[in-house]
Amino acid sequence: MSSVGQTQHTALHAHSPFELRVNLGGDVPESEVRAALRTGEMGFLHSFTTGSAVDGPGVRVVAWTSGCQFRCLYCHNPDTWTMTNGIPITISRATEELRKYRQGLKVMAGGFTLSGGEPLMQDRFAVKLLSAARAMGIHTALDTNGSLGARLTDSELEQIDLVLLDIKAWDPERHQKLTGMDIAPVLEFARRLAARKRPIWLRFVLVPGLTDDVETISNIAKFGASLGNIERVDVLPFHQMGRFKWSELKLDYALDAVQPPSPKVVADACDRFRAEGLNAF
Ligand code: SF4
Repeated sequence: MSSVGQTQHTALHAHSPFELRVNLGGDVPESEVRAALRTGEMGFLHSFTTGSAVDGPGVRVVAWTSGCQFRCLYCHNPDTWTMTNGIPITISRATEELRKYRQGLKVMAGGFTLSGGEPLMQDRFAVKLLSAARAMGIHTALDTNGSLGARLTDSELEQIDLVLLDIKAWDPERHQKLTGMDIAPVLEFARRLAARKRPIWLRFVLVPGLTDDVETISNIAKFGASLGNIERVDVLPFHQMGRFKWSELKLDYALDAVQPPSPKVVADACDRFRAEGLNAF
């Protein structure tokens, strides 16, 4: 596709997803964007990063997609909300990129994680890339807010070795306020993964004053324990590393005054998950 070459000056690789990237796919005609979404032959990526030890088991290569329908108040990558902020890339080039790491990932018992943004905004591209990774013998993980899980068929779920599933709140109203979206499809996806015995690492962002109350944590912990397929829980302390992006993008940031939770609050949250029999870190 002609427009793919236009952003070649922007490196596909980033040191971290905290690099601000905007409008890198802005020249792609609307018709090509629509075709990309329909076929998955092209996707939009914020970047590839290597060497992650926190996005699944072992050392991971992570592809960060652009496009997200949530608007989390604490989002640290709001540049990934808009799909065309990302670099347009053909599925064959993305696959070749991944192929470079194939041997190394095997040696390090690592794998490939597709994160975002929300990868399932580009569900056809996501399925193609995860399937290509799996065909190379690479362990695959999908990091998702879960709300678009219904876009994946049961056989497509089999291409994903692990789902890193965010549960951001429990009370539906609170979830709506925190993310702008309904919680029901997220929980439904979690239940479907459980029914199909697909492993989940549950991710929970601990935000003082928003998600650190006992009721929220206990309810999520009870729900997680009831599923039977949660291998671990990652309690992720809120931080301010993405604040500069909100300001660069001229977005209203509501959490300016919020401090990261103390180590004790994080430890207490982990204990609540452990009290329900879950492994929490
Ligand atoms: S789901 Fe992730 S990428 Fe989307 S708004 Fe929330 S934190 Fe940001």
